[in-house]
Amino acid sequence: MSKSSSNSSQRITCKAAAVIWGIGEPLKVEVIEIEAPKSTEVRVKMLYASICHTDILRSKGKGDPIPLFPRVLGHEGVGMVESVGDEVNGLEEGDYVIPTMLAECRACENCTSPNTNLCLTYPLDRNGLMLDGTSRMHIRGHKLYHMFTCSTWSEYMVVDSNYVLKIDPSIVLPHASLLSCGFSTGFGAAWKEAQVKKGSTVAVLGLGAVGLGVIEGARMQGAARIIGIDKNSMRKEKGQVFGMTDFVNPDEFDVSISQVIKDLTGGMGVDYCFECVGAEPLVNEAIQATKEGKGKAIVIGGGIKSVKIDYFPLLSGRTLKGSIFGGLKVKSDLPIVIDKCKNKEFHIDELLTHQVTLQDIEKAFELLKQPDCVKVLIKID
Ligand SMILES: [Zn+2]
Ligand SMILES: [Zn+2]
Repeated sequence: MSKSSSNSSQRITCKAAAVIWGIGEPLKVEVIEIEAPKSTEVRVKMLYASICHTDILRSKGKGDPIPLFPRVLGHEGVGMVESVGDEVNGLEEGDYVIPTMLAECRACENCTSPNTNLCLTYPLDRNGLMLDGTSRMHIRGHKLYHMFTCSTWSEYMVVDSNYVLKIDPSIVLPHASLLSCGFSTGFGAAWKEAQVKKGSTVAVLGLGAVGLGVIEGARMQGAARIIGIDKNSMRKEKGQVFGMTDFVNPDEFDVSISQVIKDLTGGMGVDYCFECVGAEPLVNEAIQATKEGKGKAIVIGGGIKSVKIDYFPLLSGRTLKGSIFGGLKVKSDLPIVIDKCKNKEFHIDELLTHQVTLQDIEKAFELLKQPDCVKVLIKID
């Protein structure tokens, strides 16, 4: 592709995009058509992408109001703007960007509130389409659904410019991909959503990229004790690198996870418990693992439809709080996260355990089942 501005009015043929045709079907790397970006949209040449748990849920038809197929998944990534729509402000060809599932208009009731990151003008997209209700991707006459407003497992994607963040390309680009969802969600949950206090106690259920991000955030906030819980004992070493002080493999105990956490904290429970797995029974475990009267359970794992809550533990002064993208405002807070990464304040290299090419993306799903795998980077050629 040449980079002349005339591209902005042209449909292009994209040599490779990972298309999923139905629930549980394998990904097929296919040639697709990508339309020109409309008004406030940009078309981005992708450089790297990564896999987040939400993509896996969507491949199984979970988490959307209705399953959306055929679809190009992927919402973590980094790329370069190839062309821009005629109403785009602040972005031009050649800019490096990451997609953000949320936007920040800075004017609506929620954007002007310090208590939420959910913009009302540009909401979280769950229809797999652009803001005007149409798609920019097609294959052999079929409309392809997007993932949120983007779709990063593709050579090119079109995304609304309100849902991207321009980044300084001096950051290690694969790190930028990892910061576009999972790790930042965890970090933000400890930093912004829970506002973990110095000297406090924290428990983290599930030590994937999100859980490790929580540990990093809790450590930075000065938590005195950070208990990591995972059935995969290989996560012990990882957790310790990020700042975990205690590790629990629940399979090694006969009692509930909340009881193990209470036993480790003199019967009190922790100040904050983060549910990063997205497993129904763990929501009640997270509540019960916190201190009576003041504990906070923060749920950030996706994929749960409904949960029956044990009422008395909640009535006893505990808080249950949900959060999307860790409460991070994408224009105000995410650049701070990116700067911390650039300043090497994060152990983000430890997340990146495997790499594949886009052509081999199906292998990535196999790699993710290995106990030593945390994150798979996808190199887009
Ligand atoms: Zn807003
Ligand atoms: Zn994600």
